[in-house]
Amino acid sequence: MSERENIKNYAPDALRARLQKDGLPGFRAAQITRWLYARGVEDWDAMSDLGLDLRRELARRFETRALETGEVQRATDGVIKTQLRARDGAVLESVAIPERGRTTLCLSTQVGCPLACSFCATGALGFTRNLSSAEIIDQMCRMRELLPAGQRITNVVFMGMGEPLLNLPGLLPALDTLLHPQAFGLAPRRITVSTAGVARRIPELLEQAPVNLAVSLHAANDALRDELVPLNRRFPLAQLFATLRALPQLSRRHPVFFEYTLMAGVNDSVEDARALARLLAGLPSKLNVIPMNEHEDAPYRAPTPQVMDRFLAELSRAGVVCTLRRPRGADIEAACGQLALRPSPSPPPPSPAGARQGQEPGTTRR
Ligand code: SF4
Repeated sequence: MSERENIKNYAPDALRARLQKDGLPGFRAAQITRWLYARGVEDWDAMSDLGLDLRRELARRFETRALETGEVQRATDGVIKTQLRARDGAVLESVAIPERGRTTLCLSTQVGCPLACSFCATGALGFTRNLSSAEIIDQMCRMRELLPAGQRITNVVFMGMGEPLLNLPGLLPALDTLLHPQAFGLAPRRITVSTAGVARRIPELLEQAPVNLAVSLHAANDALRDELVPLNRRFPLAQLFATLRALPQLSRRHPVFFEYTLMAGVNDSVEDARALARLLAGLPSKLNVIPMNEHEDAPYRAPTPQVMDRFLAELSRAGVVCTLRRPRGADIEAACGQLALRPSPSPPPPSPAGARQGQEPGTTRR
């Protein structure tokens, strides 16, 4: 395993300070940032506007890649799911979701997840470790290589493996890099961080990064939510919603997004819809209702279209702003709650340093 630090652990401004601390020219941080992220170059030798001595010194101290691309699966609707392998052999998954006029990347923040939501395939894996900032941001770099030439990543959602708010030290520098104009330069409203409801860390997230907040809700009463999202026992609905209602960042233009996975006979009744409407009343919010993405690790099923229509109609009657989200990538188990990686039986193909967009290391089904 390499002894060198990974340079992608440093957001652009932190990189400047890190270089200065080592007696290196901090003002070169902007050039390095542009090479790594705007141009997608990871080979120190190719960074031609840096002096040879500096390039050698940087190569001696820092590595530039954190992840290698493993198995790539492509769904019939254009969704791409990829397994990515870290230096220590840990494997995670990322998903690219092309839509008309935009491409959303769904990133992971942990290997596995400690929260064990009962409907989620990732939760069934258990928890291995947090991802470093470099590993979080390298998902952007590796996934970008798999997109057709000219297709840009326009949106990022942290809805992959893991609970982002249990890894703020990894997440916050990665958000800085996503937002920084010399790096990925994404607008804050094109980034969404989704939490299962780690209430005490929500204010810190939004103070540090003005991104969208999404909350995986799935139930409107504590008894059911304790069962579906066990984290609810630590942060029950009253505490979660008191935290949300106190957030100064929320407004009609900047609402909190709620995810509600609809499960047949579990949380899909008219009474459930009414309880949900009462919970959301007065809070600037948008609700995404998602039919259960069925998989072998959970006993839940999606309701019939009639039941879903009845549920949504009841919400609309109560004035809740809601949409039914159509599942994407379900045929390769890339849909919400389906990321249940199984380690590749064979090592991933080598991926050259400095690889550029348009290359495809391998396309297989697991
Ligand atoms: S739904 Fe999210 S928080 Fe819950 S187990 Fe799955 S990955 Fe973890």
